[in-house]
Amino acid sequence: MMIVMKPTATEEQIEAVVERVQSVGARAHISRGAELTLIGAIGDRELVARLELEGAPGVEEVVPISRPYKLASTQLKAGQRSVFEISGRRVGGDNFTLIAGPCTVESRDQTLETARIAKEGGASMFRGGAYKPRTSPYVFQGLGQEGLRLLAEAKEITGLPVVTELLDVRDLEPVLEVADVIQLGARNMQNYPLLAEVGRSGRPALLKRAVSATLDELLMAAEYILKEGNDQVLLCERGIRTFETSHRRATLDLMAVPVLKELSHLPVIVDPSHAAGRRDLVGPLSLAAAAAGADGIIVEIHPAPEEAICDGPQQLRADSFAEYAAQVERAAGLAGKALSTV
Ligand code: PEP
Ligand code: MN
Repeated sequence: MMIVMKPTATEEQIEAVVERVQSVGARAHISRGAELTLIGAIGDRELVARLELEGAPGVEEVVPISRPYKLASTQLKAGQRSVFEISGRRVGGDNFTLIAGPCTVESRDQTLETARIAKEGGASMFRGGAYKPRTSPYVFQGLGQEGLRLLAEAKEITGLPVVTELLDVRDLEPVLEVADVIQLGARNMQNYPLLAEVGRSGRPALLKRAVSATLDELLMAAEYILKEGNDQVLLCERGIRTFETSHRRATLDLMAVPVLKELSHLPVIVDPSHAAGRRDLVGPLSLAAAAAGADGIIVEIHPAPEEAICDGPQQLRADSFAEYAAQVERAAGLAGKALSTV
């Protein structure tokens, strides 16, 4: 249920509604807009309905949230979009967040060189995997804690916030030491205990859509993080599995951008690299995503992609990143967004 307070509602009246919502074991999620305060009552619908909050002091109206996801829904915020401040970068709203870096952390030189180029090219954040979800168990699985140390060094030198994947809940603590944003990969989109743990950690999360997940399923997965009191979830479209096989990997579902923004107030990030699997497709997909109103892009870049340990064919040459970033910035401008850097 959504309780819309009157513009004249006092703090005491808001507090009284929150207390009544909580008295039946429901969670009260307050959003304060310029004029109205909304209180989302998330819990047993019947019990909340029995509180008969219509007509209570300060209450304008009580409206049901019809979607199965509550905290992720646009209905929770009556159309206002979420804007986050993540380690000095604004994400969402009029801001475009360009996250760039290698698929995986391979060595000190490769990591620091890529981070320097990302920074110089205007990236908002740096990405790189220390724990890699590989299709084959017989190939490189990431540098683990050593990789995290290299990411920390890259952050120290460039000042770029770090996005890195958490694969296993047992690695949460070391990942929290360096990650400004925890990436939850496509393969883990429905790993609910992992999502809940990241929710409890309070760290911003980048939640990738699984290759066969619907947008409703993605939003239900986001709900697992939000439900733990962690508001900072970035949704990520990274390509889905379709019957089309003429390109290398997945089909980038660009419609997900406007549709997710219709369904949810959360920022929407696009990953053209894992959708395309091919470097030459990454540029056009990025421009399309930015122009379609994506709140950001996460893209793979590497100083020498032919030598990359994984995802070489899709990683942009790091020396082309500055030009790529300038083009993406122009496309984002068409959607009214400016690159988020400090
Ligand atoms: C990645 O970003 O490196 C990655 C493995 O992505 P996904 O989970 O989308 O496959
Ligand atoms: Mn990759």
